[in-house]
Amino acid sequence: MSEPWSQLSDVDRLADRQADVAFEIPLDQMPRIRAQLAGSGGKVRGTAHFRREAGFRVAELEWTGTASLVCQRCLEPMQWPIGGAARVVLVIAENEADSVPPEFETVHTPENRVRVRDLVEEELLLTLPLAPLHGELSECAGQGRAGAAPATPAEQPGHETQRPFERLGELLKRNH
Ligand SMILES: [Zn+2]
Repeated sequence: MSEPWSQLSDVDRLADRQADVAFEIPLDQMPRIRAQLAGSGGKVRGTAHFRREAGFRVAELEWTGTASLVCQRCLEPMQWPIGGAARVVLVIAENEADSVPPEFETVHTPENRVRVRDLVEEELLLTLPLAPLHGELSECAGQGRAGAAPATPAEQPGHETQRPFERLGELLKRNH
């Protein structure tokens, strides 16, 4: 089954038809996003509206969804809301980007073809946090549970700390 968001389409045709492409894309269908995900199941939904504006081919994007990311403090999955909007000018030649007004982003489409999935993926790459963290320390795994036991026996008072490498040093001396 080939969804409209997965098809490579002619940019001029999309702009001239003022095409509206609704999408609901599983996040694991985005190769550049996949490595950041804690698991499959997340989706991004929205619309891409194509048109011409001031001589440019424009894609207006809106999206919303939830991604399952890995908290960089406790390494447990966390739900991260994703949502936003962007106006993107699709340029064929690199130097065309210089004349695009600053309120637009630009995406280079050298073969004059575009895939909605790639546009959305580009936006998500720009907005997903590099180091996502649970909002509160207490949400992290192993934290905030009242009366939780200390994480390791070595933290208990009176427990003799072992230094395995000192002992290794003694063993090495003995052999000489
Ligand atoms: Zn966490």
